[in-house]
Amino acid sequence: MVYADFVMVTNSDRLAALQRLCLLDTPVDPSFDRLTRLASRMIKAPVSLVTLVDRDRQFFKSQIGLPEPWATMRETPLSHSFCQHVVDTNKPLIINDSRIHPLVSNNLAITDLNVIAYAGMPLVTSDGYAIGSLCVIDHEPRVWTSEEIEILDDLAESVMTEIQLRESYDERHRIEQKLYETSQTQLKEMETLYKRVSDLERMKTEMIRVAAHDLRNPLGLVMGYSELMLEETEVMAEHHVEFVQSILRSGQKMLKLINDILSLERVTSAQNNQHQPLVFTDLAREVYDTNLDAARSANLHYAFESEDLPLTVLGDVVQLREALENLISNAIKYTPAGGTVTVRVRRQSEHILFQVEDSGYGIPEADQTRLFQAFYRVHTDETYRIGGSGLGLHLVKNIIDRHAGEVVFKSVYQKGSMFGFFLPIA
Ligand code: ADP
Repeated sequence: MVYADFVMVTNSDRLAALQRLCLLDTPVDPSFDRLTRLASRMIKAPVSLVTLVDRDRQFFKSQIGLPEPWATMRETPLSHSFCQHVVDTNKPLIINDSRIHPLVSNNLAITDLNVIAYAGMPLVTSDGYAIGSLCVIDHEPRVWTSEEIEILDDLAESVMTEIQLRESYDERHRIEQKLYETSQTQLKEMETLYKRVSDLERMKTEMIRVAAHDLRNPLGLVMGYSELMLEETEVMAEHHVEFVQSILRSGQKMLKLINDILSLERVTSAQNNQHQPLVFTDLAREVYDTNLDAARSANLHYAFESEDLPLTVLGDVVQLREALENLISNAIKYTPAGGTVTVRVRRQSEHILFQVEDSGYGIPEADQTRLFQAFYRVHTDETYRIGGSGLGLHLVKNIIDRHAGEVVFKSVYQKGSMFGFFLPIA
């Protein structure tokens, strides 16, 4: 062990270092007892102690061979302490006969504990504080050999290793505890945050709903009166008819936008989707049929191809109808007269593959990566006049994602497109 030559340590620093170790007044500990036993046995001394020198007492973290009541009390006042001198100097103290030693001849340990020969090694922390001593005591005068002092020095080193192991264990434990507490706090903060976000989400949904409904009612009136006026075109000036037709068209566009926003809100805020078994082939056929008139007015070759077997999925019928409606109506909307739109339902191993293929305007490659973003619209020479909200495909993707499905598409500009999705078969 290397002893500091000279360290300016105030007693309060040293006492603070001792307190930090949390060893004072702790129970008997077998690992320290093993070391005092070993010291006693190897040096053949009747008493061996691990003392911790406090402000006004010395505490025995371990003791072998002390008489009662000291053995049970596990401490003495400093009036009975040789070890305090080891701590004061931070150096070994070797005494062959205490009765004639100038430093300790008046110490009460001589009479009360029969300490005649004493050898003590300082216990020094890694930051240089002497906190106590490992000492051996004999009741007879004795000349301690250099070999015995070396043994004691080695054992003092072991005592300090033991103390430091405990310290690092305690430190680790403290860090773990701190980490645990921090993670608990963070968890609580996240819960609060989550709750706030959910509340805000609910408020947003409610606001959108109220706003959309409030818009829909006056819009219904505007459109209703426009339709009524258009029933009496014969009494209207020609340019007024055009104005009213324009009002009606704008109203329809606005209504579509409001309906799309409401649908999206319904889908994204649905806490528990109403998933039930449904025959997908029948649903696809139903949506195909509702678009027959639109396809006919657009002058398209419109066809439906499906497997004969009814294919069933677990799903929300309102949402899936909406997805099918969006894809089919897009194909009709973005295909010029004379083109074809084919709706297909097929089985592919454990999935249903739904596809709408058209020979329409197609989509330039540069736009294809953003098609499913909300409000994204493609403006080509062929399509810029066609109305829409840019929410349809976004809605389709949201719905299919919520059904554990996958959206697929392929499009070649000015040749045509295929939009569809896979859904797991129930
Ligand atoms: P919109 O309401 O504009 O139709 P969508 O989200 O349904 O919104 O579609 C986004 C854009 O993708 C559309 O503006 C359109 O340009 C393009 N698109 C969608 N389907 C087709 C299709 N079958 N053929 C060509 N373009 C399409």
